[in-house]
Amino acid sequence: MSRKLLLPAIFAALAVLAFTKAQQDTVQGDFSFGGGPLPSAITERIRAKSVLPPEAEGNFPGKWINGDDCDNEPPIQVHAYNEDFYILRQSKCEIFEAPFMFLIFGEDTALLMDTGALNTTPVRQIVDGVISDWLAAKGRRSIDLIVAHTHGHFDHVQGDGQFPASPYVVQIVDAAIGEALPFWGLEDYPLDVSTIDLGGRVLDVIGTPGHHPVSVTLYDRRTQILMTGDIVYPGHLFVFSQPQWQDFRKSLRRLTLFAAANPVTWVLGCHIETSEDPFGSFAYGTTVHPNEHRLQFKPTILSTIYDAANSFLASPQCTIFEEFVIHPVYLCGIGWNG
Ligand SMILES: [Zn+2]
Ligand SMILES: [Zn+2]
Repeated sequence: MSRKLLLPAIFAALAVLAFTKAQQDTVQGDFSFGGGPLPSAITERIRAKSVLPPEAEGNFPGKWINGDDCDNEPPIQVHAYNEDFYILRQSKCEIFEAPFMFLIFGEDTALLMDTGALNTTPVRQIVDGVISDWLAAKGRRSIDLIVAHTHGHFDHVQGDGQFPASPYVVQIVDAAIGEALPFWGLEDYPLDVSTIDLGGRVLDVIGTPGHHPVSVTLYDRRTQILMTGDIVYPGHLFVFSQPQWQDFRKSLRRLTLFAAANPVTWVLGCHIETSEDPFGSFAYGTTVHPNEHRLQFKPTILSTIYDAANSFLASPQCTIFEEFVIHPVYLCGIGWNG
């Protein structure tokens, strides 16, 4: 290469390096927590990123089972967001927690996130049924099932004991720290972001403590869905101690920055406890949810919740916001509802 060409080439290479570094800094660097407000440009970047089309789209049901028709509600509502991504909701007639679970198919592995709030609900049979229908539709004989968790609270792990009986299961990852974090490959939890490959389908794994000490958020690159467990959902965002409040704020900041750097179509948590009416909130333990909020949030909810949490700095107050509730349980008790 002549000297005339060499210099521009070097500058071009340096520019690419600087750009790449800046991108990485956006995702990784700001994960250390200063506690200050996010620049307003972050919200604009989340909006811009959210319009990048995903490889696979999907749809949500018109209504989730919500406890208003217990004679006819199935124990679990199974909804195909698309042919390879299933959302399951446990019935409020079975147990008021009514958590959502996710079943995601790659080429080699199907990943089930969470097993529900009641060991008597036949979650294993229902999941096996979805898998066997999926195999039939694809003309395949088998796929490996891995059962893992957003976090280890009781309402997300009760069905675990059923899964050794599944003909598909190859691994049930205990939700405890010693097994969950090595499985996810999170060595420097919660600061690093790891990936898990289901076979032609990569999910990013983000450590998000705050609601629970060992909690992960998954990002499915194919649908661009962010699964936030119990740290972000349309409901009571329960935080159980002051140290966890600080973790909660840090995790929200990291999620917000992740969404500014990666396209996110929807943010899906594991419960619904607010209504479609602004500032409408169902108390913990409510068994019927008329006019329930949609499960899905647009990604800008992340900066909205971060800003709300950050406005309290280290001294939160139990507060009902338009679509979610900041709920430090250690200050007002779990049954507080305004
Ligand atoms: Zn929880
Ligand atoms: Zn929960």
